[in-house]
Amino acid sequence: MPRQQPAAKKAASAPGVTPPRDVSKPKNAAQRKERLDQILKALDTLYPNVTCALDHRNAWELLVATILSAQCTDKRVNEVTPRLFAKYPTVADFANASQEEMAQDIRSTGFFNNKAKSVIGAAQRVMTAFGGEVPHTMEELLTVPGAARKTANVVLGTAYGVASGVVVDTHVQRLSGRLDLTRNEEPVKIEQDLMKILPQGRWILFSHQLIHFGRNICVARKPKCAECPLDSLCYASDKPLA
Ligand code: SF4
Repeated sequence: MPRQQPAAKKAASAPGVTPPRDVSKPKNAAQRKERLDQILKALDTLYPNVTCALDHRNAWELLVATILSAQCTDKRVNEVTPRLFAKYPTVADFANASQEEMAQDIRSTGFFNNKAKSVIGAAQRVMTAFGGEVPHTMEELLTVPGAARKTANVVLGTAYGVASGVVVDTHVQRLSGRLDLTRNEEPVKIEQDLMKILPQGRWILFSHQLIHFGRNICVARKPKCAECPLDSLCYASDKPLA
């Protein structure tokens, strides 16, 4: 019975796909650590001061913007929120808003009925349980409608500087796999893997760096490997021809 080809070799023989350049995989914990340090260093050089791309003036506005950003670009959200925050200037205004009217206000972000329900529900929860202030802990934030771990990590990390976890969005999910930082595919497990290998002081910045890297260089289709500073460290099986 023929032996199964490793994934990298399969990719090498597929038309239009190069193998991963001759990049050797780390063989032990020390080499994995060394490689991770090089990845972090390269990301620091690329994106030294990167932060969340959603416009906001406080934690509440960031929570709303993050809820609206589901299945929507940050650019579109940033087009919608200035009018939204002018129309509903306080958390209480959101809590008392009409769901039908709010849905129309945010229509262009998609899934507007569900998002309106979540945003109003979040405002009501923040008003009744937290005195109008977005809570500062993961445990409390997870009780707010519309705030799962990803949203909570965005708000805690960006608005409060609290490193409660690593934001795992579609870019972090894809790149963590390509860079062999995890073998898991579920966001919660990916986050656990990243939290184990990254120093806690890097959790917030790393998410933002990987999101920007995934938007600009290591894009989903046809990643721009020729201009990628991680090329010499990357043995992803789907590296395309330069
Ligand atoms: S852009 Fe290419 S070389 Fe860079 S991390 Fe992505 S797949 Fe690897």
